[in-house]
Amino acid sequence: QAKAAGRNTLQFFDPQMQAVVSARASLETGLREAIEQQQFQLHYQPQVNAEGRVVGAEALVRWLDPRRGMVSPAEFIPLAESSGLILPLGRWVLETACAQLARWRSMPGLSQLSLSVNVSARQFGEVDFVEQVMTTLMRSGCRAQTLKLEMTESMLATNIEDVTAKMNALKGLGLGFSLDDFGTGYSSLSYLKRLPLEQLKIDQGFVRDILVDPNDAAIAKMVVALADSMGLTVIAEGVETAAQRAALAALGCAHYQGYLFSRPLPAPEFEAWVAQQGVDSKT
Ligand code: C2E
Ligand code: MG
Ligand code: MG
Ligand code: MG
Repeated sequence: QAKAAGRNTLQFFDPQMQAVVSARASLETGLREAIEQQQFQLHYQPQVNAEGRVVGAEALVRWLDPRRGMVSPAEFIPLAESSGLILPLGRWVLETACAQLARWRSMPGLSQLSLSVNVSARQFGEVDFVEQVMTTLMRSGCRAQTLKLEMTESMLATNIEDVTAKMNALKGLGLGFSLDDFGTGYSSLSYLKRLPLEQLKIDQGFVRDILVDPNDAAIAKMVVALADSMGLTVIAEGVETAAQRAALAALGCAHYQGYLFSRPLPAPEFEAWVAQQGVDSKT
């Protein structure tokens, strides 16, 4: 019916829809300002081994909006992607993460720590993405070996040749790749072996009900087995209870991330947390 009435009816669309559209517009304006005024912070969530010792961290962006308070990335990353603002934001995240790694490099107990950074498809798709990473690494003075980029399956679905070439170039610089939210997308298993991956992340959606849903447990088990047979490490995300950790450990999962250990923390609190827990001796 809306179609029959033609385009002009759009301006008389139901008020609820109107509200959604204007909320989105105001969020986008806010995001634009936030990028200019650098209202972002990175928080760091520890990644631990079976003994609870730290093996690395994931950098997660936080938007501290003066009016809205802390806005969740789940809310603004999709908008940043569709508006293109993810490009300046993604650059800021990478620069800030590398600067943090460079500081940790000279701090006892933190110098070997690896840091995972989420990369969006649009950011990775930029023609000069490899150069951007190279320049950022050089300027920051961090070691490429301590930097991991988190990819998602959706990034692999488009233009696999370009993605593979960039990943290989970046691997040549020394950095590693982790496949985030594994099992939730549509990646073909045949791509997996062609990509220079280092790690698979079991999505928190499979961890949540691992104790009660045999299908989730089966998928988690499959991811661990797949990682093992391909020589990749595996980490479970969203681990909230000791029982979930135990179930994952029984499947052979070696690394964990989740509220059971710690929420994502601002750098000084993260450093204090690491000092208390200790670092894996191999790290
Ligand atoms: P993700 O990369 O899968 O990150 C894991 C998310 O799970 C984070 O949410 C983290 O805070 C949350 N989490 C960690 N442990 C637990 C737990 O035990 N239980 C539950 N329920 N949640 C847990 P966050 O920080 O809100 O980020 C959401 C998503 O936003 C991320 O999912 C990632 O896709 C995206 N994101 C965050 N930071 C960045 C960034 O710097 N760049 C890009 N491109 N995307 C980012
Ligand atoms: Mg991630
Ligand atoms: Mg994830
Ligand atoms: Mg996720």
